[in-house]
Amino acid sequence: MKIPNGHEVIQLFEQFAPKELAMEGDKIGLLVGSLNQPVKNVLVALDVVEDVVDEAIDKDAQLIISHHPLIYHPLKTIRTEESYGRIISKLLKHDIAVYAAHTNLDVTFGGVNDLLAEKLGLLETEVLVPTYEMTLKKLVVYAPQEAADNIREALGNAGAGFIGNYSHCTFSSQGTGRFLPGENTNPYIGSIGELEAVAEERIETIFPQNLERKVLKAMLQVHPYEEPAYDIYPLDMKGQVYGLGRIGYLSKEVTLEEFAAFVKEALDVTGVRVVGNLSDTIKRVAILGGDGGKYYKTAIRKGADVFITGDMYYHTAIDAKLDGLHIIDPGHNVEKVMKRGVAKKMMELCREKKFQVNFIPSLVHTDPFLFL
Ligand SMILES: [Zn+2]
Repeated sequence: MKIPNGHEVIQLFEQFAPKELAMEGDKIGLLVGSLNQPVKNVLVALDVVEDVVDEAIDKDAQLIISHHPLIYHPLKTIRTEESYGRIISKLLKHDIAVYAAHTNLDVTFGGVNDLLAEKLGLLETEVLVPTYEMTLKKLVVYAPQEAADNIREALGNAGAGFIGNYSHCTFSSQGTGRFLPGENTNPYIGSIGELEAVAEERIETIFPQNLERKVLKAMLQVHPYEEPAYDIYPLDMKGQVYGLGRIGYLSKEVTLEEFAAFVKEALDVTGVRVVGNLSDTIKRVAILGGDGGKYYKTAIRKGADVFITGDMYYHTAIDAKLDGLHIIDPGHNVEKVMKRGVAKKMMELCREKKFQVNFIPSLVHTDPFLFL
């Protein structure tokens, strides 16, 4: 077991929620502090308010991973008698870094929207609003036959060769590799100045673009040649589609009234706003964590009986009602589900890596609204 530094923790986190999944212009990544220090405790929070910073100090956290970016609009001043100045100053004094994963965490599989869909027990869930399609590439590498098994295994372990639920997919063909080692070489096979012919395998596999460095590094690490021959091809085919929100089915039909009560309990909120006839029946459910009113037409198009999202505007609710869509607004704060979800996921990933680091879901309730 080793105590990782901030970079190692974030590298692992970004395998779970890659930055390129974020919507354009989102303020994600390291916002305050440095990742150069060792990290023993990470506080996972929805919002970085002052109570959350105090909690991080109290729990000896060196890093806060938050969903909502602490600095979203550029700050003009950092005055310590004002709220954000006070928060930033406290973070810097205590050497606490803040890293934000916002829309990339909404979109990624196992992220905010999947966690919410899971809380509601939705079945056969799909992405509601596609936002990103992973580009696929093909890698072809030539290797001496005795090294082929090792290379295939390393490629598969690095995430290449995923097709549907199959992993480690490759294709191999056999042929002859020829090379003439020049001066100042140290050939694995053959001698300097003599043309060599070797029984080789051509190994082909595909990988998502974001894993390119990882896949190549894994291959180069086990390839015995001084100068391995490989090609990377762009592919003109659809990769994994990512997006905001999820849509799925309930295991049985219920009334809007029953479902609203269930949502309130499942998402742990003190109240929900409901649009629609309470005795209507609900079976197909769309959910989008945070502020998703503008996507209500997508929910209709995909056949949702009800759309669950926060921050619903009056006029959007009127329009949705006219279009016959039921709405449940449980508030924006339901995204708090990410605190436990991210902590659990990261504990698993760190255990695999033998990183000795603790992820603590913040206990601070950051919903500014009260219901009277
Ligand atoms: Zn949000």
